[in-house]
Amino acid sequence: MSTLVFVEGADDELSRQALTLADSLEGDIRAVTVDGPYAPSAWAKAIVEAAGGDDIVGPGSDRGNEVLAHVAAQLDLPLAANVTEVRGDEVTRIRWGGTLLEEARLHSERRLVTAAPFAFEPSNSLLQAEVLSPALDGAVAVVDHVAPDTGGKVSLVDAKVVVSGGRGVGSAEGFAILEELAALLDGAVGCSRVVTSAGWRPHTDQVGQTGTKVSPDLYIACGISGATQHIAGCKGAKKLLAINADPEATIFAHADYAVIGDLHEIVPAISAELRKARG
Ligand SMILES: Cc1cc2nc3c(=O)[nH]c(=O)nc-3n(C[C@H](O)[C@H](O)[C@H](O)COP(=O)(O)OP(=O)(O)OC[C@H]3O[C@@H](n4cnc5c(N)ncnc54)[C@H](O)[C@@H]3O)c2cc1C
Repeated sequence: MSTLVFVEGADDELSRQALTLADSLEGDIRAVTVDGPYAPSAWAKAIVEAAGGDDIVGPGSDRGNEVLAHVAAQLDLPLAANVTEVRGDEVTRIRWGGTLLEEARLHSERRLVTAAPFAFEPSNSLLQAEVLSPALDGAVAVVDHVAPDTGGKVSLVDAKVVVSGGRGVGSAEGFAILEELAALLDGAVGCSRVVTSAGWRPHTDQVGQTGTKVSPDLYIACGISGATQHIAGCKGAKKLLAINADPEATIFAHADYAVIGDLHEIVPAISAELRKARG
């Protein structure tokens, strides 16, 4: 069986990792990339046509997983997303935001898989990718990108320090002390899903499995319990400081530094010390 690899670009690191995964499968490989506005179902249709009966591998990026999901739906075949290994029809794949490794079997003659990010070395082989230019035919397509208005402040994704609040903050107004600390540290404010569900902060501030994934130098979790789905979004942080009133809170198992106590006292106290230290 040959393999078709969907690559997002010749220099795209996750696509080069997907090439390494494809290389580990038996048979020839060839690569395709897609030109034009992002339109997952139209891109998938073009990939399905190009693949014929081949196995299909893609990068475990947002687009790679979305396009391959459309490919699987169009072919009515199973897809294993974010695999770390493929052995015949068996795969090991990452689940639950990186907290679980699952052994699974693909009940299909053809394998549709995406490579888990950073589970493979990026390939150095210079494979010439065929460029597909699918007709949109009314498919949903991205027409524009509008960057969120951060009011001149550093964005959540780029911030070196993220000060994040959970239910323990208590209210939308309660975030003022987190805003203050973030401003002192040139950081950004994040939050848990409970906070966005309560309408205290916009969804763009949510960190986690269904929010933004951040990897700052320092993540300060204030009044956040440490649910798996939240940790999935901040486990890339170099250091985690947890402030929580409950000494048994799960977040402490992930923390490099722990402060047990009321965030409404501790956060302003940190800001006051920072101001004092800076004269
Ligand atoms: C499919 C799915 C996807 C999800 N995606 C996400 C996601 O992307 N991001 C996310 O965050 N969650 C997500 N969740 C929700 C997640 O499971 C948790 O419910 C959520 O993260 C809990 O938010 P929290 O820590 O703010 O609240 P809680 O779990 O209620 O924790 C509040 C914490 O605040 C502490 N606290 C209370 N008062 C104070 C105080 N005065 N000072 C200090 N500490 C105090 C408490 O001790 C407690 O530990 C998802 C859930 C599902 C099922």
